[in-house]
Amino acid sequence: MSEARDACGVAGFYSKTLPAARHLYFALFALQHRGQESSGITTSDGKKLHTHKQMGLVTQVFTQANLDNLPGTLGIGHDRYSTSGTSNDANAQPFVIKSALGKIAVAHNGNLTNYESLRTRLRDAGAKMSDEQHSDSALIARLLGFLIDTKKAGNLEEAVEIAFNDYILGSFSLVIMNKDTLIGLRDRNGLRPLCIGNVKNEATIIASETCAIKTLEGHTEREINPGEMVVINAKGTHSKQLAPADPKLCVFEFVYTARPDSELYGQSVYEVRKNFGRQLAREYVPDADIVMPVPDSSIPAALGYAEESGISFEEGLVKSRYVHRTFIEPDPNIRLNKVRLKFATLDHVLRKKRVIVIDDSIVRSTTSKEVVAMLKRAGAAEVHFLIASPPIRFPDFYGIDIPQPADLIANQMDIEEFAEYIGAESVHYLSLAGMYKSIGVTGDMVCSSCFTGEYPVYPEQLDELKLSGQVASAKKLVRDTAKQIS
Ligand code: AMP
Repeated sequence: MSEARDACGVAGFYSKTLPAARHLYFALFALQHRGQESSGITTSDGKKLHTHKQMGLVTQVFTQANLDNLPGTLGIGHDRYSTSGTSNDANAQPFVIKSALGKIAVAHNGNLTNYESLRTRLRDAGAKMSDEQHSDSALIARLLGFLIDTKKAGNLEEAVEIAFNDYILGSFSLVIMNKDTLIGLRDRNGLRPLCIGNVKNEATIIASETCAIKTLEGHTEREINPGEMVVINAKGTHSKQLAPADPKLCVFEFVYTARPDSELYGQSVYEVRKNFGRQLAREYVPDADIVMPVPDSSIPAALGYAEESGISFEEGLVKSRYVHRTFIEPDPNIRLNKVRLKFATLDHVLRKKRVIVIDDSIVRSTTSKEVVAMLKRAGAAEVHFLIASPPIRFPDFYGIDIPQPADLIANQMDIEEFAEYIGAESVHYLSLAGMYKSIGVTGDMVCSSCFTGEYPVYPEQLDELKLSGQVASAKKLVRDTAKQIS
C-alpha cells in the first residue's frame, strides 16, 4: 500500500497576463483546510519550470521572495494532508519529473487503488523509479514520463489520456502541467471534487473547491465532469470526456472535508450541513435546554437542528484558532491533550443545562469522549451527543484519512455501550437515508464507502491489508443498524 494517502487541495492557473504564483498562493490559502502538512507551487515561464515546496502551512511555506522566484503565468499548486506517521518532505507536491519532452509537474488529490500493481508493472517495463518514494501521486508523474519516453504518447495530453484509459484506477483529481499546457483530470466517479472558473476573463483556474475561485474574485463556471480531461494552452481550452461519467462524489466532502462556502453538486455545502441538522432533529430529539456544535465544522448542523427542534442554539465551546491537526496526530495521548487545548468551555452557558451537542462525525471517539468530559466538568446536567452523519465503520481508500476498522469506535461497541463509554446520557447518529435525503441524492450518486463498505472502485489495498474478514463483520453491523433505523 502506498504510504502517502492524500486528502489534499489542488489548483491550476493559466493566463497570458496574470502572474500564476501569486494567484495560486491565494487559492492554496483558501484550500488550506484540505491539507496542512505541506504546500507547493510549480510555475512555467514558458521555457522552464520553477518549483517551491516545503513542509508547513501556506503562509509559512511562501514568502514574498520565493513567490518572486516563481515566474510565469502558468502554474499548479498543492496543499498536502498527511496521514499518521507519513509527515515527510519528500511527499510534498507538486511532483516534477523529467521526460523526453521536458519537465512535467503533477499535483494530485485522491488515492490510486492499484498503486502496488501499477508500480510493479512500470518497474517491469523498465520505467525509472525511485525506491524511497512511496507515493501514488509521484507514481502518476513517473507514469506520464514513461509514456512519453517510450513514445507510447506523443505529447502530454496523449500521455494523460493513455494513463487514464490503461493505467490508473481509484480516485484522482489532478492538475498537470508542462512548460506550456495545463491539464485538469478527474476520475470517472469524480470521487474527489474539481471545478473550473475564470478570473476577470484573463485567467482560467482549476481548483478542488469553488471557495478557491471565489477568493481570487473569480467566477466558477462548472464542476469538471467525472471522467473529463480539460486541456488549456495557447490554442485555447478544450475538453474531452475520456469515459462516461458515473458520479460518486465522496459523501464525506459534504460531512466534513469541504469548506462550508463551497458548492458541490451545485449545492451550498453550508446548506447541506444545515439539512443534516434539520434531519437529525426529525430523527431524534431528547429533552434538552440548549443545542451546541463542536466547532467549527458542526456549526451549520447545530443551527439546522436548533431551527427544526425549536431548542435554542448556544455556543458551549470556543475553539482555539491556533491548534491544528488533532485528528492526524499518531500518539493517542497527544491527540487527547490537543483536544483539551483546542476547546474551552463557556461554563455559564453550560451550568445545570441539559445539552445536545452536535459533531459532524465520530471516528476513534477521541473528540467526543473528551468533549463530553469537558461539558460535564463545566457543570452540564446532561449531555446528549448527536452526530450529523452515520457511524463510520470502514476504511477509506479514496483519499480520506480513516483508520483501520478495528480502530473505529463504531466497530468496537454498540450505541448504548458507546454512550456509557463517553459518559453521555444518549448518543444518536444521522441515518444513512437521512444523509442522502439531506443532500438530495440517492445512494448510488455518492460514494459512502466509509459508512457502508460499498466500494465503487475495488481497492487492491483491501487484499494487502487482509481486511476482508473485518470488513465482512463490519458490513453485518451496518446491515443490523440499517434494520434498526428502518
Ligand atoms: P475522532 O476524535 O477520532 O472521533 O474524530 C472525529 C473528529 O475529527 C470530529 O470532530 C471531526 O470533525 C474530525 N474529523 C473527522 N474526520 C476527519 C478527517 N478525515 N480529518 C480530520 N478531522 C476529521
